[in-house]
Amino acid sequence: WSAETIAVVTGGNRGIGFEISRQLAGHGLTVILTSRDTNVGLEAAKVLQEGGLNVFFHQLDVLDPLSMSNFADWLKKNYGGLDILINNAAVNFNIGNENSVEHARTVIETNYYGTKNMIKAMIPLMKPSAAGSRIVSVSSRLGRIHGRRNRVEDVTIRQQLSDIDSLTEETIDQIVNSFVQQAEDGTWESGGWPQTFTDYSLSKLAVNAYTRVMAKVLSERPEGQKIYINCYCPGWVKTAMTGFAGNISAEEGADTAVWLVLLPDQAITGKFFAERREVRF
Ligand code: NDP
Repeated sequence: WSAETIAVVTGGNRGIGFEISRQLAGHGLTVILTSRDTNVGLEAAKVLQEGGLNVFFHQLDVLDPLSMSNFADWLKKNYGGLDILINNAAVNFNIGNENSVEHARTVIETNYYGTKNMIKAMIPLMKPSAAGSRIVSVSSRLGRIHGRRNRVEDVTIRQQLSDIDSLTEETIDQIVNSFVQQAEDGTWESGGWPQTFTDYSLSKLAVNAYTRVMAKVLSERPEGQKIYINCYCPGWVKTAMTGFAGNISAEEGADTAVWLVLLPDQAITGKFFAERREVRF
């Protein structure tokens, strides 16, 4: 890894995304710290630049297709593309045990579709390399199909999500879209979802499922143009998203992402990690 290695981080202005940016740049990479708000993004990048790190800012709102395409054009023109993509940007309106799905559409659009659109926009710009380019999405244990707390009751949905051979992007879209529909017409509680399964949990479940689908698709790329894609849970982290509750710092929450993308010979793809270990989806 060197300053020639370009890493893009979404939602890099604060929390875990800021820490991932700091740590990757600390390893000598060039980091493109992106943020939906230009002023806070510039400010965050400045803090890291003042620490002597190679960090540059560009505006990026994962909900805005124009912002995404402007970013892609700028990245191509100025850096020729990227080697590493960290999908970190997300929202969560459920602090503590509150489980309303009032903001389901925004949550699914940002956390799932935002991540997916970003992956699609960046894949054509990923630079060929012998070690493979890398995508890591910051996800959550709350989105595990087999999780103890949030087990998905609907057998059909569980089967669809578990059967990686037949799982497709369209199936994932259908599942999240019907959840949003049910959340908006008030029928989600009878839709086969556990009471504790929020829009946020579903958005992360969809990110996890999409990671596996994309790993399958990307594995067909020829040697020298491989892209490895994984996701991970950072733990319960003291950031704005948890109201600064949590039991670890943003620095610790960033650790597995940085470890994963910097693994020297990483043919690992389509996996879910926590604390540097693979965990079942
Ligand atoms: P923060 O709320 O501190 O950070 C979220 C980041 O996402 C902010 O930079 C925010 O920008 C950005 N963001 C939100 N919407 C958009 C958008 N439309 N376009 C671009 N950026 C956007 O939370 P965390 O640092 O805790 O969260 C980082 C990741 O970690 C998320 O994916 C989260 O789901 C995940 N995670 C966090 C856990 C925790 O315990 N904290 C646990 C499990 C997973 P802005 O400042 O403008 O709002």
